[in-house]
Amino acid sequence: MTEPLDRSATWPYEGGQPGRYSYARADHPAGVACESELGALDGGHALLYASGMGAVTTVVLTMLHAGGRIALAEGAYYGHRVLFDHLQPWGVRVVEFDQTTAPPSNVDLILVEAPANPMLTMPDLGAATAHPAPVVCDATVASPLRLRPLEQGCDVVVHSATKILSGHDDVVAGVTVTRDRELRDQLHLTRRLAGIVASADTAWLVLRGLKTLEQRLAGQEASARVLAERLDAHAAVSNVRYPGFSFLISFDVVDGDAAARVERAVETIENATSLGGTHSKLEARHRWEGDRIPTGLLRLSVGLEAVDVLWADLDRALTRV
Ligand code: PLP
Repeated sequence: MTEPLDRSATWPYEGGQPGRYSYARADHPAGVACESELGALDGGHALLYASGMGAVTTVVLTMLHAGGRIALAEGAYYGHRVLFDHLQPWGVRVVEFDQTTAPPSNVDLILVEAPANPMLTMPDLGAATAHPAPVVCDATVASPLRLRPLEQGCDVVVHSATKILSGHDDVVAGVTVTRDRELRDQLHLTRRLAGIVASADTAWLVLRGLKTLEQRLAGQEASARVLAERLDAHAAVSNVRYPGFSFLISFDVVDGDAAARVERAVETIENATSLGGTHSKLEARHRWEGDRIPTGLLRLSVGLEAVDVLWADLDRALTRV
């Protein structure tokens, strides 16, 4: 069945009192339906936000105090670092660490990424959860079908639902999932007060994407495995990073100019940002991330096109290196 879409911003009181839904900044039916599916996937209480960054912002505003220090995984989504630096005037401090080892001791919140975008390292969740600080795991690239961090002791899972969860590059959304009901309620309060909510249309599109998540991920992952192997054997390519599962690969060509030539040469693969959609995308990340990554690093998000068509496109583009 297709869920009905109620776009109301407000609902009539029942017997003079607000009912289950009264004002859409707090909750709306499509959001709640979507949260119920997302919660089941990750094994906790899910909340939907206006974006992945909205979800992370809500976590920081709820779980960190002024002067608090965040330990952030090196090589993780660069936007996290930019956000935390931006929040410095409010007393947010950040220190980056190698997430394959234990987080530094004197921190108040830990943010790991599984796997990190674009360096594709996996966190040592055992070492992170042994730390007294709460652990937030951004599992956007793994998806709940490949990793359920709450089962490994993490306190919060974050996803950018813009990526594989919705899967069609037509929606921007974010998710948190927690086992602790009280923490879920605190996050919900911040979300409601700050208004970091996803619209009903957004929730409906995420819900629709979830119906094909398993099939999309399986198809994208099967092609990613093949492409990672072929890239690894290619003379123009070094440092192929692929964690062995999911849809994201990164690899290096000799320098930034070579990466720019590959970007301009791909045809089937779109030269665009983002990841997890049905259409493959390739992008040189240095323009965004600067010297925290190699100048020739290309990130490839594998979509649902035929794998041999994708390889032919990549192989031809790599002759420009
Ligand atoms: N987390 C990861 C791993 C991402 O790749 C991104 C965006 O690229 C985000 C979070 C932020 O998500 P959004 O763009 O939905 O705000």
